[in-house]
Amino acid sequence: MSALQYTPIDKISEIRDTLKQTFRSGKARSLAWRRHQLHQVARMAKENEEAFMAAMKSDLGKPRMESWLGEIAGLVKRILLTAESLEEWTKPEYPEVPDWQKPWRPTVYKTPKGVVLIIAPWNYPMVLSMQPFIGAIAAGCTAVIKPSELVPAFSALLAELIPKYLDPEAYAVVNGGIAETTKLLELQWDHIFYTGNGRVGRIIATAAAKHLTPVTLELGGKSPVIIDADCDINIAAKRILHGKCTNAGQICVCPDYVLIPEHKQDEFIAALKEHHAAFFPEGPLNSSSYGRIVNSMHHGRLMSILNRTKGTIVLGGKTDGKLGLEPTIIKDVREGDSLLEDELFGPLLPIMPVKDVDEAINYVRSKDHPLVLYAFTQNQQLKERLVAETLSGSLILNDACTQLAVNEIPFGGIGESGYGYQILKYTYDGFTHLRSSIDVPYDNEDPFRYPPYSEEARKLIESSMNLDIPPPPVNGH
Ligand code: NAD
Repeated sequence: MSALQYTPIDKISEIRDTLKQTFRSGKARSLAWRRHQLHQVARMAKENEEAFMAAMKSDLGKPRMESWLGEIAGLVKRILLTAESLEEWTKPEYPEVPDWQKPWRPTVYKTPKGVVLIIAPWNYPMVLSMQPFIGAIAAGCTAVIKPSELVPAFSALLAELIPKYLDPEAYAVVNGGIAETTKLLELQWDHIFYTGNGRVGRIIATAAAKHLTPVTLELGGKSPVIIDADCDINIAAKRILHGKCTNAGQICVCPDYVLIPEHKQDEFIAALKEHHAAFFPEGPLNSSSYGRIVNSMHHGRLMSILNRTKGTIVLGGKTDGKLGLEPTIIKDVREGDSLLEDELFGPLLPIMPVKDVDEAINYVRSKDHPLVLYAFTQNQQLKERLVAETLSGSLILNDACTQLAVNEIPFGGIGESGYGYQILKYTYDGFTHLRSSIDVPYDNEDPFRYPPYSEEARKLIESSMNLDIPPPPVNGH
């Protein structure tokens, strides 16, 4: 596996300039060309799937099933759907307007924003770099992809393959760490799409503001799980545990912590233990179905959080002395605990007992808006309360992480979990400017609009623009 070569910093402006020239040349605009480039990304993913999976195994210990399903197969499907949808998404829109404006032919053109920068994290390196990338291609933009330096095997492979499959005058990979990304951020871009943590998200947004560059921030945070006493505790435990073990908990939509009525805590833990034994009969650290922590810094961070908890470890807690860390369940975790401070982003599952769902909702509402709010309940009234009384990127009922399989719903955070959206048309929309246009015929003359403004014109305009406002409600209805 090749080592990761950082892009020389003095080449970075040149790379951006080439992409700018290509964008200006109009080459990236034709739909046939976009379609071909999209298919090339799919071909690259499929023809090199073994190499990609090996790279992710080497970087993250990612189980083969998780790499193939979560990083390659789903991506290829989305590329094909994007290519098929190009005609539909890109065609101009002609909104309904009042009759007197119809001769102006009001039109909304779907215009590519220009040259875009995509900065990706390490946890799902393929899908989180390629998913924004296919939206950028579909929109007719040229793009630089900056993969994460924390997954060197993957990032080296991507830098090797992108120029082999795609037009190097339109798309480039820049590899590197903070210095290279800082250089990229000094330059002007027409959109920046960043996926990662909120601390760096603020650096990105600040740098972008200097050029008035629009930004998408796909961030993380602590995604809570509310468990209602009436739910199926056994299914809830199985699905939450699966979510927590996926990529060893290093997934942005990972169920971070559980709020459960106190009297249900032990039943829930018993179910978690049972499913854990079924998932990993040979023990998680010996299982090919369980990944590992990305590096020693993150491993140390997780161990330090675990060492400081005042809760009780009821399952797991051991490491293999390398980067493995068992799925770890901690009960009786109370507000202020180390496990409830920052996003865990690892296989630790704190359980916080609460009196009832009201307390759980109040707790969630007192925190930052999460990327996902999970709830396990069959109670329709509670579902409606969650929609009305809480706010999060998504609200997912009765499962964990499966929302990622739905192509038709937007994915994105709010507040501390970010802003902007992705997946298929939503990604395309982020890289597209809605350019409005009218074309007013010369014989469409309105004599009243020009000075000198006559009294007659004023009265005429006033009579048509003086609209009645509905009366206020009586007794609030
Ligand atoms: P990371 O460390 O790989 O960083 C992400 C990118 O930021 C990398 O390309 C890195 O080079 C760059 N970067 C790092 N420091 C920088 C700096 N000082 N200046 C400029 N660029 C810098 O990944 P991470 O942030 O550890 O990723 C994990 C976080 O991402 C978690 O919070 C997770 O929830 C979030 N995440 C969100 C989504 C989503 O779609 N919402 C998806 C995956 C991960």
